[in-house]
Amino acid sequence: MTRAILVRYDEIGIKGKNRPDFVRQLVVNIRRATGLSEDEIQIEWGRIYLHPSGDLQRLRERLAMVFGVRSFSVVLIVPHELERMRDAAVELARRAVARGVRTFKIEARRSFKAFPVNSMEINQELGRAVLRALPELRVDVHAPEVIIEVEVRQEGVFLCSERIAGPGGLPVGIAGRALLLLSGGIDSPVAGWMLMKRGVAVDAVYFHSPPYVGEKAKEKVLELGRVLARWRAEALTVYVPRFTEIQVEVSRVAPPSLWTILFRRFMHRVAERIAEAHGYGALATGESLGQVASQTMENLACVDAVTRMLVLRPLIGWDKVEIVRLAREIGTYEISILPYEDCCVLFAPRHPETRARRERVEAIEARLDIPRLVESALERLEVFSVTEQEVSPLTTSPSA
Ligand code: ATP
Ligand code: MG
Repeated sequence: MTRAILVRYDEIGIKGKNRPDFVRQLVVNIRRATGLSEDEIQIEWGRIYLHPSGDLQRLRERLAMVFGVRSFSVVLIVPHELERMRDAAVELARRAVARGVRTFKIEARRSFKAFPVNSMEINQELGRAVLRALPELRVDVHAPEVIIEVEVRQEGVFLCSERIAGPGGLPVGIAGRALLLLSGGIDSPVAGWMLMKRGVAVDAVYFHSPPYVGEKAKEKVLELGRVLARWRAEALTVYVPRFTEIQVEVSRVAPPSLWTILFRRFMHRVAERIAEAHGYGALATGESLGQVASQTMENLACVDAVTRMLVLRPLIGWDKVEIVRLAREIGTYEISILPYEDCCVLFAPRHPETRARRERVEAIEARLDIPRLVESALERLEVFSVTEQEVSPLTTSPSA
């Protein structure tokens, strides 16, 4: 009897040509997340089996964070022999009893038709064996507390009694790369998570304004990056352009009601430059329609007008309550609510314009040297490589 972990993934939507890519990326990501070696992973048609030599508990925690994994189970694998199948079923039932389970059901499936016993007969055989060994258990076919699944496949018979949910979605890396505008707030990390769930490899850009904004604010964003890196199973790059000069200049020439929209337009210009230099296919933000006065359709359009890039806003239709709930689940909320102000809080006007008119905004921007301001942000670009364990500075490059 050998023990392995069976990983299930959704096949809907990945038929045909995309399928090998999906599985390949999923396996790569599982290896990155778990540290398993190539020998410890076995790929069968429609299935991935892990044969870990190390700690199972840690492996479970890791798998629950790999996008593309629908569910997984610890499975017992036995040869095509009824006697061995009975032993395995009894062992699983015994463990269930230890957890306080009272009722069970055997659910057999036989895809390997050369095995002479059909699924109905397997159910009866194994059910009887379990009842004999553990008389305190009862069969309940309608609402059993545990289902012992038995799958007879060509390569062996697989038994399991528990399905642990994975996060679902698509493996990170199969849907392109995006550059997330990551502030220290609640929304943008959740937006990044949503995109990763759709298979997008997300890196981040944070606009920092020293000395108006302290180093603590930057560290907070890097902390958020660490949480996101956990879900990405890989280092996340965080670009930190310097936003100070832009903020000072904008607040000098523009009325306070237009600051937010002008800052946002500059952020997108700078982010676009970084995206182009490093091959990102889209920008992404944590905005949702109408959440705050600055996030109206008119204002979003006014921001989108400065670049030609696709801007993804995965939270566009979300309520704050829903966003907060997800932030708690994925582990970013506790960091996001730490009290360090980001630049936009500091330069926040009391009455932001809700319907910025492009002509008016452009007329004000005409008084600024836009290319020079964009350069000023990129000249002092800091770049960090962020993993769950550590944050390491990459370079302080002279330009993107
Ligand atoms: P968040 O919680 O993500 O900060 P928010 O509701 O507080 O969102 P704003 O602060 O107005 O909204 O920002 C809207 C979006 O602009 C953010 O979701 C983020 O994508 C981007 N953003 C704002 N400030 C910064 C910054 N300093 N650096 C990078 N991106 C930023
Ligand atoms: Mg914010």
